[in-house]
Amino acid sequence: MIEVTKIIEWDMGHRVPNHKSKCRHPHGHRYRLELTLGGDLNKTTGDSSEGMVFDFGDIKKYMTERVHDVLDHGFMIYEKDEVLKKFFQSNEAEEFQVIIVPFIPTAEEISKWCYEQLQNCFPAGIKISRVRLFETPNSWADYTPDV
Ligand SMILES: [Zn+2]
Repeated sequence: MIEVTKIIEWDMGHRVPNHKSKCRHPHGHRYRLELTLGGDLNKTTGDSSEGMVFDFGDIKKYMTERVHDVLDHGFMIYEKDEVLKKFFQSNEAEEFQVIIVPFIPTAEEISKWCYEQLQNCFPAGIKISRVRLFETPNSWADYTPDV
């Protein structure tokens, strides 16, 4: 098995509503997603992806469509965060890009969410082996699927 990794970045706001310190304030990050796929080399003679695990361009396409374009310049809020929900559902905020999720938007939970968006993109034999999500250059979470 060989692993390949593709990276994308986006800007997004969030807050951790129960946090004991400054993370409960609405703020934003430059998020960085490192998606690692594992599989065998494509040995099909003459195929566009011969010698590859999976075409980097196609990995980027899925990451862009299913993660970047959904989240970039948006604000992710927990569905039970009534304070922010009330604000974002007011008329003044109706044009804002809001992503309501059933979890507190920590790096750990967002890494799992990214896995769920991408898990069905790849054919049998190509597995997501790790989803690494940086919230800052020095802080990240790794989601490793069980299978
Ligand atoms: Zn934060």
